[in-house]
Amino acid sequence: MILRLRQAHQDQIRAHVEGGYPAEACGIFLGREVDGVRIVERLRLVDNRWADPEEQTHRFLIPPEEVLAAEREAVAEGMEILGFFHSHPDHPARPSNFDREHAWPWYAYLIVSVENGRATDWRVWELREDRSAFIERTLEVVP
Ligand SMILES: [Zn+2]
Repeated sequence: MILRLRQAHQDQIRAHVEGGYPAEACGIFLGREVDGVRIVERLRLVDNRWADPEEQTHRFLIPPEEVLAAEREAVAEGMEILGFFHSHPDHPARPSNFDREHAWPWYAYLIVSVENGRATDWRVWELREDRSAFIERTLEVVP
C-alpha cells in the first residue's frame, strides 16, 4: 500500500500539526484507491477532542460523529475514507500501544513527529489483519 498525498495536502497537515503543538493534532484522508495506491483527494482536519487537555500531548480522539460525517462526505462524492493522520509531539513517528489498540486493519495511518514545534518525520503505517503490529508503508508526495 502506498499513501499518495499532494504537496498542498502535506502543507495543510504541516500547518495543522505544528499549530496544534504541543498537543497531538489529527485528521482524516478521503479519496480513492487504485491498484493499491491510496490517492488522497481531500483532507478533513479534526480538532483533538481528547477530554483532558493535559493528556492531549500523547492522546488524541477523533469522535465517531466526525468519522461518520467524513464517511458521508466521501460516499456522496464516490470516495472513501482511506485513513487517518495524527502527530506525535516530541516523540518518534512510530505507533504507540494506544495507537494499536485504537486502529483498524486496512486503513493508512500517517504519523508525523513534531519536534519543538516543527514537523520532522512522516511515516505511514498499516495495522496487520490480526492486529498484532503495524507494518510500515510508503508515503508518496506529488505536486
Ligand atoms: Zn500515536
